[in-house]
Amino acid sequence: MADPVGILKYPNPLLAAKSAPVESIDIRIRAIAHRMLSTMLMAPGYGLAASQVGVLKRMLAVDPGRIIGEPEPGPMVMLNPVVLETGGGALDEEGCLSLPGIYALVGRPTWMVLEYTNLVGKRLTMEADGYLARCLLHEVDHLDGILFWDRLPRSQRTVMKMKYFTRLEWVR
Ligand code: ZN
Repeated sequence: MADPVGILKYPNPLLAAKSAPVESIDIRIRAIAHRMLSTMLMAPGYGLAASQVGVLKRMLAVDPGRIIGEPEPGPMVMLNPVVLETGGGALDEEGCLSLPGIYALVGRPTWMVLEYTNLVGKRLTMEADGYLARCLLHEVDHLDGILFWDRLPRSQRTVMKMKYFTRLEWVR
């Protein structure tokens, strides 16, 4: 299937793999971060995990301003993100750049606190709610090899996989 921006699609096995922590912020990590940001912006997407561009490092790109409909904060890369706290719960629609054409209502917390390292090595926290919290949790899942349909009941996931592969046949 044609893929103009180099985002891995299911069933690429890298999408099911667990990513390793970023040990030091060297030129390679900065280059990956730059590539993730440009890929996310070109897709366009709300967020992107490194595994989606074939790098098994705990890095995610997110565009909070675009998600919340504000100019700030702009697109950023988070290293070694850890979910410290979550609260609430709601169903909302999700899609994924690695599962083109597939959307589903997924249950997730509505509020979260995330700890992460920025690209200059500072450990920071971000509190998020609503769709931003959902996007961040979706991206953190990618770092553990979890796709959004893995959070659905098995019967629903089976139907979605059939739909996904039928669609792949159709566009090929
Ligand atoms: Zn995704």
